[in-house]
Amino acid sequence: MPEPTPLQLQACGACGKSAGEDLKLKRCSACKYVSYCNADCQKSAWKSHKKICEKHKFSKELLDILDSSPTGEAIDWTPETECPICMVPMPHDGRNINYSVCCGKMTCQACFTQHSQAAMKNRTTPPTSLFDMMPPCSFCRHPVPRSNEERLTLLKARIKLGDAHGMETMAGSFLNGAGVVKDEYVAFRLLKQAADHGSASAARMAGQFYELGNAGVPKDLEKAKELYIMGAEGGNSLSRTQLGMFEIKQENYVEGIAHLKIAAAAGHDLALDTLKQGRGLGFVSEEEVLESAKALHAAKEVIESDARKAIHPMMRNMMDDKDVTSSVNATLDKLG
Ligand SMILES: [Zn+2]
Ligand SMILES: [Zn+2]
Ligand SMILES: [Zn+2]
Ligand SMILES: [Zn+2]
Repeated sequence: MPEPTPLQLQACGACGKSAGEDLKLKRCSACKYVSYCNADCQKSAWKSHKKICEKHKFSKELLDILDSSPTGEAIDWTPETECPICMVPMPHDGRNINYSVCCGKMTCQACFTQHSQAAMKNRTTPPTSLFDMMPPCSFCRHPVPRSNEERLTLLKARIKLGDAHGMETMAGSFLNGAGVVKDEYVAFRLLKQAADHGSASAARMAGQFYELGNAGVPKDLEKAKELYIMGAEGGNSLSRTQLGMFEIKQENYVEGIAHLKIAAAAGHDLALDTLKQGRGLGFVSEEEVLESAKALHAAKEVIESDARKAIHPMMRNMMDDKDVTSSVNATLDKLG
């Protein structure tokens, strides 16, 4: 089934007229990612468009890569996998994970932080810039990208290889407009493809687009549910929570509560919070809440090492939801 058309190609970039039977839009010949109804419209838009035409070209290139569906092998990674450094299972919700744009390897955020701190301690000369403070990749020794451009180039190469987590990380850039033209449609396409390549956390985020009908993606609750299930079955507890909330919204309380209990037992706080809310509203019993709280506590003993507990709450928030990028990327984004 063909993917939905990006909004930029559905209507004139200057006057907003929609394409139709009697109006064929022409695309900007440089980026091919915006369209106009005639030469006058293109001319009037050029002054502002020329500043972002090059960045739009990058967006279009990515979509073309996705359209030609990379055949590179999908990276086999599930939340059950352990962090290769501390050997503690990776966080089940897909957050607080550091992704290296150079080689696509992942560690838990706690290990990445320790690695950075150790490198700082071992320095003999003071760092000359923020980039200089960051150690090279602990797996392939590639230096940390020094600009957004360099980071995006490395990420694009990962995407060409079919790396689902590279796609997901790039999606974060498009959601935030970091070094690219902010574009939820491109983000959606990257997330959808990442989900098809086995990323459970991307499945959840792609599902949200279908649930809400965002960015020109037609609202489709069945598809949303399908993706949430994909994420939940892939072991992503945030996706399981979202599936539970989705079922409750559809008034399928029994199914919804069952999913929330599973997510809570995997150590996901939001699931327990939602069950507590359900208790307040009267569709969850006190016993169920207590039982889930106990299970959550037990799960935390397994997935929260001391190092992970030590991650500053502010850092945790930085990793929240839309921000699927690593802390390095988040820092880079701030620098522009
Ligand atoms: Zn026009
Ligand atoms: Zn252009
Ligand atoms: Zn670790
Ligand atoms: Zn690397």
